[in-house]
Amino acid sequence: MKHYSAFAIAREAFRQHTGWGRAWASPEPRASYDVIIVGAGGHGLATAYFLGKRYGIKNVAIIEKGWLGGGNTGRNTTIIRSNYLQDPSAAIYEKSRSLYETMSQDLNYNVMFSPRGVMMLAQTEHEKRGYLRTERANALQGVETRFIQPAEVKKLVPIINLDGPRYPVLGALWQARAGTARHDALAWGYARACSDMGMHVIEQCAVTGVESVGGEVTAVNTTKGTIGCKKLGIVVAGHSGALADMAGFRLPVESVALQALVSEPIKPCMDVVVMANTVHGYMSQSDKGEMVIGGGADGFNNYTQRGSWHHIEETVRALVETFPMVSRLKMLRQWGGIVDMTGDRSPIISKTPLGNCFINCGWGTGGFKATPGSGYAMAELVANGEPGPLAEAFSMYRFREGRFIDESVAAGVAH
Ligand SMILES: Cc1cc2nc3c(=O)[nH]c(=O)nc-3n(C[C@H](O)[C@H](O)[C@H](O)COP(=O)(O)OP(=O)(O)OC[C@H]3O[C@@H](n4cnc5c(N)ncnc54)[C@H](O)[C@@H]3O)c2cc1C
Repeated sequence: MKHYSAFAIAREAFRQHTGWGRAWASPEPRASYDVIIVGAGGHGLATAYFLGKRYGIKNVAIIEKGWLGGGNTGRNTTIIRSNYLQDPSAAIYEKSRSLYETMSQDLNYNVMFSPRGVMMLAQTEHEKRGYLRTERANALQGVETRFIQPAEVKKLVPIINLDGPRYPVLGALWQARAGTARHDALAWGYARACSDMGMHVIEQCAVTGVESVGGEVTAVNTTKGTIGCKKLGIVVAGHSGALADMAGFRLPVESVALQALVSEPIKPCMDVVVMANTVHGYMSQSDKGEMVIGGGADGFNNYTQRGSWHHIEETVRALVETFPMVSRLKMLRQWGGIVDMTGDRSPIISKTPLGNCFINCGWGTGGFKATPGSGYAMAELVANGEPGPLAEAFSMYRFREGRFIDESVAAGVAH
């Protein structure tokens, strides 16, 4: 792998950039691997990366039905934060946030992590009480957050309207070290590092079946043939139910489309991320100047990766009250991704009924921020066959046993 550096850019500038190699190889699959990871989204790639880095397991294939990062990894609004309510959530999201801080150096790939600060607006008394509680929970968990008053909100976000017609801004939960990162770069950076370790990133290859003997997976059927494996990791987000079905078990997840949109690019006007959960809309400004706007999830199960008019209307209408400038913006494009929702809005990193098959899913509307931490914890589970401290609360059997990690009703927000 060619090391990326200022010196390398300068050298290539002198030879019309002819010396750059491909960032990752595109090999044909081998007959079998020690580990197959299904899904080359951020979580699958991060799992493979940590399998190699932390456990020296490098005979690994990451199998992707489309192009890598083309699932939710390349479709999200890139918000990274760790101010969750429950202890297991705060632990894994904070681990993840801290891994983002050094990711560009670790991968030698600029993922443009921007710890610009994330603000979650309190627009009802109920929401304010909830955030004050989260602030205290975060203090006990060692996650740095602060409830700030409306005047400070206005100072940080001058374009905000504090006295909206329906919902005034009563304050906000502020996490200064939260922020955003370039989502495609994360996938590309992990793929490059995995390929450099000798792993196979196999794109345009759908898994169509899972073969097992005596409760152990032996191989996966794919559109490029049958490939053997000693261990299988399923990391396919919105398609988790379909993959579990192939492996012969059921998952407590539902798949729905979640949508987002961006405006035309405008001059810099907001340098933090703002989430307005009561009216439901969140917004940040990209480096290109577009306002990146997160919308809602469809109210019915589906597998469509596209946007729809009513979500634009609902989201923009909600945001206009708090950000009147939005009414003057033209919207440029919209899209959707298929997210996998659990009942408590917390993820699953778990063993399965098949002895050597492990699953990582259920990140729903908020898993981009968790990518490195999720990969770290999933690699530990795959390598050791048992979850480590970050993953142990996230078994899929918690739904059977009533041990929910409620980031939905109790926390009041789930992105
Ligand atoms: C509009 C939108 C906005 C979001 N905003 C945020 C946000 O601001 N912050 C945040 O933290 N999270 C956000 N999320 C959620 C976040 O994007 C996801 O939780 C996260 O990206 C999931 O990553 P992943 O790697 O598990 O999934 P994916 O990136 O979806 O990867 C799974 C891969 O599996 C592949 N696959 C599926 N089936 C098969 C098969 N049979 N064979 C082979 N490959 C298969 C898919 O093609 C896909 O590439 C958002 C999501 C959406 C849709």
